[in-house]
Amino acid sequence: MYRLCAGCKITMDNNRKVSDSRVDVVLIGAGIMSATLGVMLKELQPDINIEIFERLDVLAAESSDAMNNAGTGHSAFCELNYTPQRPDGSIEIKKAINIAEQFEISKEFWAFLIENDYVSSPKDFIVKVPHMSFVWGADNVTYLKKRQEALTKHHFFKGMLYSEDREQLKQWIPLIMEGRNDTEKVSATYMDIGTDVNFGTLTRILFDKLSKQPGVNLHINHDVEDINRKRDGSWQVKVKDKITGECRKVNTTFVFVGAGGGALPLLQKSGIRESRGFGGFPVSGQWLVCRNEDVIKQHNAKVYGKASVGSPPMSVPHLDSRLVNGKKELLFGPYAGFSTRFLKKGSLLDLFKSIKFNNIRPLLSVGLHEMALTKYLISQVLQSPADRLKALQDYYPNAKAEDWTLDNAGQRVQIIKKDEKRGGKLEFGTEVVTSADGTISALLGASPGASTSVPIMITLLERCFKTKITSPAWQDKLRQMIPSYGQSLSKDEALADATRERTSKVLGLD
Ligand SMILES: Cc1cc2nc3c(=O)[nH]c(=O)nc-3n(C[C@H](O)[C@H](O)[C@H](O)COP(=O)(O)OP(=O)(O)OC[C@H]3O[C@@H](n4cnc5c(N)ncnc54)[C@H](O)[C@@H]3O)c2cc1C
Repeated sequence: MYRLCAGCKITMDNNRKVSDSRVDVVLIGAGIMSATLGVMLKELQPDINIEIFERLDVLAAESSDAMNNAGTGHSAFCELNYTPQRPDGSIEIKKAINIAEQFEISKEFWAFLIENDYVSSPKDFIVKVPHMSFVWGADNVTYLKKRQEALTKHHFFKGMLYSEDREQLKQWIPLIMEGRNDTEKVSATYMDIGTDVNFGTLTRILFDKLSKQPGVNLHINHDVEDINRKRDGSWQVKVKDKITGECRKVNTTFVFVGAGGGALPLLQKSGIRESRGFGGFPVSGQWLVCRNEDVIKQHNAKVYGKASVGSPPMSVPHLDSRLVNGKKELLFGPYAGFSTRFLKKGSLLDLFKSIKFNNIRPLLSVGLHEMALTKYLISQVLQSPADRLKALQDYYPNAKAEDWTLDNAGQRVQIIKKDEKRGGKLEFGTEVVTSADGTISALLGASPGASTSVPIMITLLERCFKTKITSPAWQDKLRQMIPSYGQSLSKDEALADATRERTSKVLGLD
């Protein structure tokens, strides 16, 4: 069930359909990244033609779907892994500032979407939910106090409250304080302006609008099987219609591999030099989802704790209020796990198929050096329901097993790349891998992820559309979409305050 772009001429080549016209852009995968890039490109160049291919029968059903991710608008208010403690005891806040800035940029673009009728109501995808960090034990309490002191010196974190007062904490987080040992030292920070974002809904809304525009064709149930460079430097993308079994080759000037966990295999197939040495380390996740409405009602915050020793930074446990499709939810997790799949609906062979001659050294090196992570993942996989309840009770002491059910989260493929010293290293961020000529780009990795989709796609535009992006027309449009474009929100307090005030108003977060 695909639609061909107007004017496409089809010929048969070894039983495969070959379109002999060329489209401007192919977007692989219908997640938040492709949706963001597609909208930006169409705004920047209204006559551009775009073909979008998604292997599943629904849009945004992998990592971008609401229940597959935590929905946290990552602003570094509550995530303790963005503010490590230095050996001298001081707190490093560089990463926190960087992530907070990226989220402000995403909010600018989302405000543009509201103002330009892409989304009718901001509540459809973003709501205000306080972001809190909660810790126990003397060392952690000292760390959290220092963290709050360090962060509040920067304008992004103005208004972050800190408390060790149990009465105050009971008001903020009654479930977490109820039944807790009175002698235990506890503390929390509270940031009123945190957000919960339904990236799945946002993605689907954007694709709905995008696919109605002239020159855009969206094809679900279409699996991209191969990507090949043509002699003239353009690309031929081989796509299989999963319903009819028919294959088709599409010629294009530019390819974005926004296939989430499926990006690495496709990048490898492209054969570009820049893909060499990359490998993937899949980490699966699970949540406990609360089914008791009385309990759900009593919690109103995203409460992040400290990660256990050896755990990957993104598996910091959190007790989260969520708003999913208009309904308030309460989730705890994620519990990490290991699966050889790169996508939730992928194949168990994904990891093995990704092992190539050019990435075997980095893969082996990471296997040897990341023993703490391996041990942590094994311990997580071996957890019994009682172990999981115990982990929840560290946060919500009175939690009862019968109120919670276990649900699978999305799959994250962490990046493994070459390292001069050790041969290979594991990274927990995201990386845009682009060919030297800027005609193909892929997004690898998962964190901080969807919250930073907008600045990530801006980086991609800067790398792949080097000439066009300097044109007055593109520059003008970029400033309409992201008014702070070209300036620094982290350095300019007045600009940051004005920007936050404006976006909060438009996004209904004030
Ligand atoms: C457990 C978990 C918690 C997270 N929490 C947060 C959070 O709190 N905040 C946050 O900002 N981010 C979070 N993230 C990260 C965020 O979800 C991702 O960064 C983001 O959704 C990635 O979007 P994407 O478009 O790149 O990928 P996806 O949403 O995974 O989309 C990729 C699409 O490509 C399709 N595809 C794959 N291969 C092919 C192929 N060969 N042909 C055609 N289509 C293909 C897939 O079916 C899929 O629809 C979390 C992720 C996980 C897993």
